Amino acid sequence: MTDAAPTPPHDDAPVRIRPEIAALPAYKQGKQADASAHKLSSNENPFDPLPGVLEALNAAGAINRYPDATAGRLRDALADRYDVPVGAVHAAAGSVSILAQLISAVAGPGDEIVYAWRSFEAYPMLVTVAGATSVTVPLDADARHDLDAMADAITPRTRAVIVCSPNNPTGPAVHRDEFARFVARVPADVLIILDEAYAEFVTDPDAVDGLGAEGFTGHANVVILRTFSKAYGLAGLRIGYAIGHPRILDAARSTAVPLSVTAHAEEAALASLAVEKALRERVATIVERRDRLAAALREIGWAVPEPHGNFVWLATRERTLDVAEQFERAGLIVRPFAGDGIRISVGEEESVDKVLRVAASVVENLPRHPSPGTLG
Ligand SMILES: *Cc1c(COP(=O)(O)O)cnc(C)c1O
Repeated sequence: MTDAAPTPPHDDAPVRIRPEIAALPAYKQGKQADASAHKLSSNENPFDPLPGVLEALNAAGAINRYPDATAGRLRDALADRYDVPVGAVHAAAGSVSILAQLISAVAGPGDEIVYAWRSFEAYPMLVTVAGATSVTVPLDADARHDLDAMADAITPRTRAVIVCSPNNPTGPAVHRDEFARFVARVPADVLIILDEAYAEFVTDPDAVDGLGAEGFTGHANVVILRTFSKAYGLAGLRIGYAIGHPRILDAARSTAVPLSVTAHAEEAALASLAVEKALRERVATIVERRDRLAAALREIGWAVPEPHGNFVWLATRERTLDVAEQFERAGLIVRPFAGDGIRISVGEEESVDKVLRVAASVVENLPRHPSPGTLG
């Protein structure tokens, strides 16, 4: 897979591991919380499963049997919903799985994948595992994608560009018109992955909606990723999907680990799709909570980037680990990105005031009292 020298002999486990894999940090999950703490570190949904989901799990059938390898019923339902042929729908054990499949379908050693940074922490790892090279383009001053700079970063070696909207972990969404201009600039043989894991929470009327009326399902090199993990609250069952050109999705299917989507995940997703009104009510509750949290944080002096997912971003920079510890001592498990900032998921209603209390005390205990906005 690689021209680099294999890892040097290792005394107790001499098996040779690809050097770029041996150099990867082991996967770090958002911290698990004890019973009294609020787990706000993984952008999970604080609500119980949607109505009908637990019943669907019970009815999902015998666990001594393998599932339908094609997730056919779910793909039919999604094809119906988005008015695309079933070949244009792909389901997998989480949209992270689909990202991995797409990246290894298009890129290997010597190939480049362009994405914004900071963005979803899985991207660099997935690119490295495929043997390809990451090309990162800094977010702009408002923590938004700089799509012009991303288009400029494309070379003959580029095989895919990943656009994360809303951006995890900073929050802003890419606008429809800027995405359309970007798609027009990207060569037709370069895959564009639009990662919309938080699409359901978006309230910006100008935001891109890959599957909306003015969406991008007709663009042969655009694949749109969605997940049941966030708004639908099925993170533990592992189910996500892609909509895109059947030829590209066939390539993803070819790289997939077979039979990864369980019958239980498929049934739960189908049941969730059937209760759209209940979903929208929950999303509205989380969005209201998010906007209230962001407004209050700004009032205290934090320059929170426009939040369009189910999380907010505090640019704590070199104080990140120290501030994260203050949250933790208050029973709030948040997600620190050392040297950069802290992502806080919108969780239970009781967590909101606790977050604000810690955020206010951080501001008060700064060496120099900042004017509003300087914490951003
Ligand atoms: C959470 C998340 C995903 C998807 O997660 P799955 O649980 O694998 O579906 C994908 N992209 C981003 C940016 C995310 O934050």
